[in-house]
Amino acid sequence: MNSQKSVVSIHGTGSTHWVGDGFPVRNLFPSNGVGAQMSPFLMLDYAGPKYFEPSDRPRGVEEHPHRGFETVTIAYQGSVDHRDSGGHAGTIAPGDVQWMTAASGVVHEEKHGREFTRQGGVFEMVQLWVNLPRKDKMSEPKYQSITKEQIPVVALGEGAAARVIAGELNGARGPASTFTPMNVWDVKLAAGAKVELPLTEGHNTGLVLLRGGVTLNGGQALTGEAQLALLSQKGDGVAIEATEETILLVLSGEPIDEPVASYGPFVMNTREELQQAVRDYQAGKMGRLS
Ligand code: MN
Repeated sequence: MNSQKSVVSIHGTGSTHWVGDGFPVRNLFPSNGVGAQMSPFLMLDYAGPKYFEPSDRPRGVEEHPHRGFETVTIAYQGSVDHRDSGGHAGTIAPGDVQWMTAASGVVHEEKHGREFTRQGGVFEMVQLWVNLPRKDKMSEPKYQSITKEQIPVVALGEGAAARVIAGELNGARGPASTFTPMNVWDVKLAAGAKVELPLTEGHNTGLVLLRGGVTLNGGQALTGEAQLALLSQKGDGVAIEATEETILLVLSGEPIDEPVASYGPFVMNTREELQQAVRDYQAGKMGRLS
């Protein structure tokens, strides 16, 4: 590391709401005012941790569309069953990641896993939205089902390890293929662990504390649950010391320097493209669930 990325700002949860009846989320951006500073990332919802009673009927979100970006689901506790108009279906189990490229349009449903629903338990997951550059927004939808076993774990010294979901860390490459350069690392730290993470000069970077406590560059502290630290584009690393057991998502990427127009589940570059997305969805052009 030549120079540390500095901490620009620290943010708590913006909105707290339910997505369907299965996902009680705390939104870490953009509802707290953090928008373009996180590009290429558009949104992060942290669902749970929350206990659900056993049930016969899977809770979740019914059939809905997406266009123009990617949805990334990271399961921590409990599982998600999904199926989409491309004919994909499966279960995202704890430790697994689903990287869905909605691109020109996908219709899908997201429900608690059948077995999890029957048994009840604590549910915890993250859904991250990743923008696509203009040239790829209308490309073919794509789908990456990434299991826990496929995600390399990089030891970062005593009591510290990172799961590399996307990008690269200390020579380990994450399994997710992405359209623009980015890193998504799921970092676990024991109390007292100290790490220096290499980051890229010019990348936007956010550290999402799911729970625990850290000090950054020997100064600013992030404690509790659901906090976001925004780092500067300048600099090529950050020093982190855990003050307690911590789970931290590191999101870092090359900004997509294009206008963003969004409406619900559609993220395009212009208002006209959003209107077209609504028309295409209503006309069934994004497919249907069978
Ligand atoms: Mn969805």
